[in-house]
Amino acid sequence: TPILELEGVTKSFSAEQVPAVADLSLSVPPGDILGLLGPSGCGKTTLLRLIAGFERPNLGKIQIGGQVVASESKWIPPEQRQLGMVFQDYALFPHLTVLENIGFGLQNIGKVEANQRITEAIALVGLKGLEKRYPYELSGGQQQRVALARALAPRPKLILLDEALSNLDRQVRDRLREEVRHILKSAGISAVFVTHDQQEALAISDLVAVMRQGHLEQWGTPESIYTKPASRFVASFVTQANFLAAKRLSADLWETEIGCFELPQNYVNGDTGELMIRQEDLILKADPEGKVRICDRQFLGREYRYCLQTSSGKELHALTDKETDLSIGTPVQLYLTRQQPQIFMEM
Ligand code: ADP
Ligand code: MG
Repeated sequence: TPILELEGVTKSFSAEQVPAVADLSLSVPPGDILGLLGPSGCGKTTLLRLIAGFERPNLGKIQIGGQVVASESKWIPPEQRQLGMVFQDYALFPHLTVLENIGFGLQNIGKVEANQRITEAIALVGLKGLEKRYPYELSGGQQQRVALARALAPRPKLILLDEALSNLDRQVRDRLREEVRHILKSAGISAVFVTHDQQEALAISDLVAVMRQGHLEQWGTPESIYTKPASRFVASFVTQANFLAAKRLSADLWETEIGCFELPQNYVNGDTGELMIRQEDLILKADPEGKVRICDRQFLGREYRYCLQTSSGKELHALTDKETDLSIGTPVQLYLTRQQPQIFMEM
């Protein structure tokens, strides 16, 4: 049985507003990390609060580990759902030590058992030696480890994390992201990880669900979301690709301002659309006849990120290896790697 199953979950806060969560269905296999990704205001936190039991759906059904926790006829309150929660702002008790914070949810079990679980959780998140400190004596990253340990200690079935890493510096965030995944995997705990950061979602998740205005746009493995975005919205939100206006010349030939592209899969209706070309799929060759110019470049260590301008003034971006060393102002010809471009009819 799935650890989490949502069926047609809908939540409106008022009759005038569009629903914050609209007819949303998905399921998460046990042990998996679901990344819930979408722009600010799309309903991620509301969905998490529905799963946790802080909000009640207007319609639909929520099951956790095969048990119905919310439906038209059934309601299980949050404290009986056996969930762990981690928030963006850590939400630690300032007057309690690390040890006491982590033990907070364990008051109903025996002392010996509680101590064992605290020790285990402290080891898992790498806080050994800091047990007696207070939150103000810890860095942001350490505070978030405490929050994670507190959520893990009661051994919940499922952990819900809402923008848990968003307040941290880039470096700490990247490291903790890897650690959180490792910790959840080694503890065998499923999680719903809410983020507005696409890289974070792809990196930490087994499954990614992309939300837009309360709706689920697409869900699947990070790889499938990245390589086969189902809509223009998912494509631009998840991949930061280039989009070029395209016109159909014949059944499988499409013209753009940087050249013609063959799209053998004749799967779209209509004669105009937008062609998606990923930054890493563009190849640049210096060419005095080229109609595209390099307007800037950034050195990113492993690669260059080029900013290009077409003759009509449109900006494109390309990620290339370090061997592609072109100076600003150079006219170039664009080629594609073997990767097929994808076309979207909605503009
Ligand atoms: P996200 O977490 O993706 O940024 P939220 O779930 O916080 O999005 O919000 C989704 C929508 O629901 C927003 O339009 C927000 O204004 C609205 N909303 C959230 N909570 C409430 C509430 N308690 N009352 C009224 N509207 C709310
Ligand atoms: Mg939110």
